[in-house]
Amino acid sequence: MQAGANHETLAGFNQAVVLDRIRRSEHGLSRVELTEASGLSAQSVSNITRRLIEVGIIREGAKVRSGPGKPRTALELVVDSRFAVGVHLDPGAITLVVLDLVGDVRARAHVDMPSSPQPEETIQRMAEEITALLDGSGISHDAVLGVGVASPGPIDHGGGVVVGPALLSGWREVPLRDALSERTGLPTILDKDVTAVAVAEMWVGDHGGSPNLGSIYLGTGVGLGVVIAGEVLRGGYNNVGEIGHLYSGSDEPTHGCGRRGCLGAAVHPRFLVQRGQTDGLLPASHDDVPPDQLDKLYRLLGSLAEAGEPRARKIVSGVAAALTHAIEDIANVLDLDRVVLGGPMWQPISRQVLREVSGMNRDGIVARKIHEIEIVGSELGESAGAIGAACLVLDHFLSPTSTQLQFAARGTTSGFGGTRRM
Ligand SMILES: [Zn+2]
Repeated sequence: MQAGANHETLAGFNQAVVLDRIRRSEHGLSRVELTEASGLSAQSVSNITRRLIEVGIIREGAKVRSGPGKPRTALELVVDSRFAVGVHLDPGAITLVVLDLVGDVRARAHVDMPSSPQPEETIQRMAEEITALLDGSGISHDAVLGVGVASPGPIDHGGGVVVGPALLSGWREVPLRDALSERTGLPTILDKDVTAVAVAEMWVGDHGGSPNLGSIYLGTGVGLGVVIAGEVLRGGYNNVGEIGHLYSGSDEPTHGCGRRGCLGAAVHPRFLVQRGQTDGLLPASHDDVPPDQLDKLYRLLGSLAEAGEPRARKIVSGVAAALTHAIEDIANVLDLDRVVLGGPMWQPISRQVLREVSGMNRDGIVARKIHEIEIVGSELGESAGAIGAACLVLDHFLSPTSTQLQFAARGTTSGFGGTRRM
């Protein structure tokens, strides 16, 4: 991690360094400890902490005695002094959360979407839900640092534009970030869903201080978020992580791209449900299964597998095999020591898949003699995308190593000083 620099123009960065050290400490840090931990001068630490106390984001806590001399006052984060809103745009639903400064969920909402949600009404609905969520939890808009939105890719990050996700018909070049910011009056940030989830794994997942992890997201599509040495990789144009066309190890089924054996097809809920229907395991349907029905049948398949039904287990084993194949390639390309599996489609099949994937033969992992690779299930649950979106905001304001993401700006800002509206 970078140390602080004693330069006035870096006040924002130094402030983030100080906040980061306080946030990571278990019982707060004294000014002396902060000076040692941050690499900043005592004067800089004194100035920054005074400003942060003034705006109520940290406070003086208990006296701590460490060694001789008079006891020191620990500075601690005021966890409910500021909040971050996260919105996950998914073809099937909008999920929203409010997080406090340590990433705990303080409020949550889930809105099912019509079968082909249009941009204008969706953005309006998002804005209304944000207001309702904040009002319902008694959180003032002034205490909200910003809104993070996680969207399926591809996105135009600089412009805050949803470019045209495959599964959201009618969404072409939608300036989601600015439109939502205008309706809520809150600073807003847009990132790709899988990247947001990787940020959440870093913030609230339990992966140690400086993980090298890949977070595989199973949603309506499949994607990868990447964290190397504790920093999120976004790719050259913020669209990293398209793993849907990796080879799954099996030639069935044909993917939407026209090729055979793509991971995106092998783990797609629609394909798995159709197999269950062909096998006589799940109730047949005449037409294409609508999204809400698909979700129910997918969960039924998962519970049948969990109960030991042999045909269901075989289908879920196919997912485990495809993921195993992909994990090997991903771990080799990125030299990871941890792979985290999650997303809304993960939970119903998680136990069997994790068991089978964890037992994979590691011979194909080139660096296995140098370091272990762990494969774990995410603990973020089904709101992972929304939690990730809110973590983008926390990361922007509280982490000195964050990529400076582009917010839709309203007015001016000085981070936690005076005005926070951007
Ligand atoms: Zn493909």
